[in-house]
Amino acid sequence: MSDAAPWIKLYAEGQPARITAEYPNALAMFEAAVQRAAERPALLYFDGSLSYAELDRLSDALACGFIARGVGRGDRVALFLQNLPQFVIALIASWKAGAIAVSINPMNRERELGLLLADCQPKVLLCQDNAHEIVAAALQTNPVELLITTSSLDFQQRDDARVLDARLRQSPPPRLPGSLDFRALIERHAGSQPPPQSFAPDDTALLVYTSGTTGLPKGAMNTHGNLTFTAQVYRDWIKVREGAPVLAIAPLFHITGLIGHIGLSLLNAAPLILCYRFEPGVMLDALREHQPEFTIGAITALIALMNHPDARSDSLASLCAIYSGGAPIALPVVEQFEARFGLYIHNAYGLTETTSPSTVTPLNRRGPVDPAFGALSVGVPTFNTEVRIVDTESGATLGPGTAGEIMIRGPQVIAGYWNKPKETAAALNDGWLATGDIGALDAAGWLYLVDRKKDMINAAGYKVWPREVEDVLYAHPAVREAAVVGVADAYRGETVKAVLSLKPGHTLAAEEVIAFCKARMAAYKYPRIVEFLPELPKTATGKILRRELR
Ligand code: AMP
Repeated sequence: MSDAAPWIKLYAEGQPARITAEYPNALAMFEAAVQRAAERPALLYFDGSLSYAELDRLSDALACGFIARGVGRGDRVALFLQNLPQFVIALIASWKAGAIAVSINPMNRERELGLLLADCQPKVLLCQDNAHEIVAAALQTNPVELLITTSSLDFQQRDDARVLDARLRQSPPPRLPGSLDFRALIERHAGSQPPPQSFAPDDTALLVYTSGTTGLPKGAMNTHGNLTFTAQVYRDWIKVREGAPVLAIAPLFHITGLIGHIGLSLLNAAPLILCYRFEPGVMLDALREHQPEFTIGAITALIALMNHPDARSDSLASLCAIYSGGAPIALPVVEQFEARFGLYIHNAYGLTETTSPSTVTPLNRRGPVDPAFGALSVGVPTFNTEVRIVDTESGATLGPGTAGEIMIRGPQVIAGYWNKPKETAAALNDGWLATGDIGALDAAGWLYLVDRKKDMINAAGYKVWPREVEDVLYAHPAVREAAVVGVADAYRGETVKAVLSLKPGHTLAAEEVIAFCKARMAAYKYPRIVEFLPELPKTATGKILRRELR
């Protein structure tokens, strides 16, 4: 990257074009936080709190529990959890045991969970006790050596009125056969310390699953170097100060939560505020109680905060900055939000494959709106990052103002996909990531997203791959042909629509299709709209034309 690149000028006011990662790995970053801020709160969960020293002790004990069960260097530890303290404890314990943490969407159903377990073959699976049916079913074909269950109530005080799953206290779900209790395992190893671990920047820290055109999940290998660099991007670009509380609006399993919440707070030895899962009223309560200084979340979450009856003009007053990424942001929403709370939403663009941020709106700058595409800019390339636009046919680099596929190179780009050399080679070339997004740069270096090359549907930041939903639809005995497309939706941005033709002599109602899918996939994926056609449009070679249906 040349230092003369136009976007460097854009944020060079007081900022360097490049930064150097301070820590070789995420564990060293955490240990430095414990060293300098042992008594500072690390995790706040409703009325429960854990200091950095306690987080260190609990993760030491859990790591010893893992090691005693044979977990070692490079083994996978899968986390199937909501935004709970246990997520962070187990993440750090995985690294202390030399392992790779795998974050799994807690909305997944047994089929989806089973696919991930088969792919990464973890030695350990950590899950909530209320997910026992899904887990038990998925484990039948994909057993793990160590199954740990935990309760969402474990780190709350008993008298907290905001407890989300209070029913669990009255009648805890049945214990999964062969499982160990999270707290009991920690108690058994309390006071023990695992042997020291060191990781090189190239070592894999996380597997974060994304889907793809084939519908099969791919584990993005986010390295320790990716993670420490992007945590620092959040800190240095947005100027989030040491110890500044961070509110976790995004789910922790997603790359935004992993870096923009966990990574950033570990780097800054800061309290991370966890609220189980996104409920706008609970978030507003947490904002009042804990006065966070930073958050990042999907635009639909910010819209939900804005429209909640408890929201007041000063509800977000403690925040120094707010960022949003993961899904398109409409300018009127940014304006309404600013009018309501006095905070400008800074747009940021990234992928799981870029370990969260790759282009970011500079702090206190307003992203321009492109006159040709009408889109709000997703920012400028962040530190050490190159962005190039290429012609989707020829691969030639295109100049400003011309749309093509967005290519990204920088210290945040993943090493590849777990055990998927073909997919890795297709996505990565000489360090450049082919994003599958169509966009354009302007002459000043601002990036605009225009379209998508990939068929992916973006429903409120949750990515849905048509092929996966179609595969489930084809399992229905009445379905002859199925195509799944994204259609515009006022709240979710896009929503999932299924277009079906039926086998002769069969009838099927839309509600039956929806119920069939709902039982087999995470709630954000199942079709909300179903349409029946006698025949689906196809190419001469018989390929269904999804684009035409869209
Ligand atoms: P994920 O791997 O779930 O983070 O999804 C990455 C995809 O989200 C990108 O390839 C984009 O299509 C989309 N995306 C991310 N950030 C933005 C943004 N600021 N505006 C619009 N779409 C975005």
